[in-house]
Amino acid sequence: RAVAAQVAEVLALFESVCAREEAELGRIDAIAGDGDHGQGMAYGSSGAAAAARAALEDGAGARTLLVRAGEAWSESAGGTSGALWGAALIAAGGVFDDRDGAGSRTVVDALDAGIDAIQRLGGAQVGDKTMIDAAVPFRQTLASTFTGENAAAAILEAAGAAREAADATASITATLGRSRVLGEKSVGTPDPGAISFSILMKELGQHLS
Ligand code: ADP
Ligand code: MG
Ligand code: MG
Repeated sequence: RAVAAQVAEVLALFESVCAREEAELGRIDAIAGDGDHGQGMAYGSSGAAAAARAALEDGAGARTLLVRAGEAWSESAGGTSGALWGAALIAAGGVFDDRDGAGSRTVVDALDAGIDAIQRLGGAQVGDKTMIDAAVPFRQTLASTFTGENAAAAILEAAGAAREAADATASITATLGRSRVLGEKSVGTPDPGAISFSILMKELGQHLS
């Protein structure tokens, strides 16, 4: 299948996973943030999946499809995580070529580029209690596990590391993002953006397996 169609399938998967997780992510964000993370992820992923379907119908390649999907994610979600996920998709699009089969870069390169964009745009460091707390160990595990051929297995293993790190954010007080104003209130609850990141990466790994 064409790369663009495969990418659109992943975005449709993200849409259904975010719909499934919406209530739980909202519940966590209501304690550790302002309560809208489930809705933001559901709206953002749904907008991105719709833009991807439209781009496919237009005959767009993977690069263009991801750029349009990223713009749609930001616009549909609003909020901090929406802007960051949107930027991540746009950056991921940059590793693909619109001509199918052109270039040989992989899903692992796309994930790297996406996480880079989140770090650059958000400026968060590990320990700030954001999705970066999950994304950095994800990326490290991916880099040490990926051999060039085992993308699905490496992503699954990295998603496990991301989930552990996301769960571990429960013990820290937030210093960035909305939850900083809630201070100690967030102790005992994990960062919602770190949890949603780890869930989506696990689903991606399973989808590719
Ligand atoms: P908002 O904070 O605007 O309500 P969301 O609730 O959708 O947006 O997203 C909150 C999540 O965004 C947080 O749980 C955190 O993971 C992530 N986040 C917030 N600020 C940053 C940042 N500077 N860098 C990376 N991630 C961030
Ligand atoms: Mg929020
Ligand atoms: Mg908000």
